[in-house]
Amino acid sequence: MGLVIFFWSIARIMQNWRMGWIGLLMVGLFGVAGVPELRADQKTVYLTFDDGPREGTREILDLLQQEQTPATFFIVGGHIINAERRETFRKLQESSLVQLANHSFTHANEQYRAFYANPDGMLKDFSKNNEILGFTQPPYPTRLPGRIDWRFEARYIDTRSYPLQSQVPVPEGLIKLFDNGFVIYGWDLEWGRPGKKVPLEPVETMLKRIRSRLAGGAMVKPDHLVVLMHDFHFSTPQTLESLKTLIRGLKEDGLKFGRMRDY
Ligand SMILES: [Zn+2]
Repeated sequence: MGLVIFFWSIARIMQNWRMGWIGLLMVGLFGVAGVPELRADQKTVYLTFDDGPREGTREILDLLQQEQTPATFFIVGGHIINAERRETFRKLQESSLVQLANHSFTHANEQYRAFYANPDGMLKDFSKNNEILGFTQPPYPTRLPGRIDWRFEARYIDTRSYPLQSQVPVPEGLIKLFDNGFVIYGWDLEWGRPGKKVPLEPVETMLKRIRSRLAGGAMVKPDHLVVLMHDFHFSTPQTLESLKTLIRGLKEDGLKFGRMRDY
């Protein structure tokens, strides 16, 4: 508004009303160009895959290589049960596109209530998985099995109670993990539910959800969208094709891809 008055005043001083309109036009052009709207390349999507190595992991890795797209795999050490999975795990470790992260050794044996009631047991389980991953120096990037909680930069975020709040007491197990160097990442959006193999929501639906979130929806960290997926969902040619479509769609939007170390 200040600029409008400025240009208008100059035009009046010059006693040339036509200049006033030119001034307004300039303000308009300047205003459009000067809007501090974030560009797509300032927004980052974090593709994260949980529960591997298992069926689907190898196929995802091949696709990431083909698309030269980085991602983070939250590994469950207890899933390395045979030579084939050891080989898949080795390939993940070798890939320069992949960041590995800790998703516990046992996945809580799917007994979440008992697992989270035992902070010492939790620490032991995640520490055992650190050994599998070869993690020796904190911070240890981690995701809790069966829980969306976040704890990083000394913040605790329970995203089940959006809008983000700080009134919820931090569970004892999370304090213990954080104090021992584990940095805990939840997610902003999930593609597919772990229990349901079919259907994975259509890729168009997922692209729409990602775009609308990035356009101003709720995110733990603005302009940094963490997407959760599960390896096993992508073990069929159809779902793998959907993942490829998702990656290409996001690339066309000009978005950046990050790993959790970039978060
Ligand atoms: Zn999991």
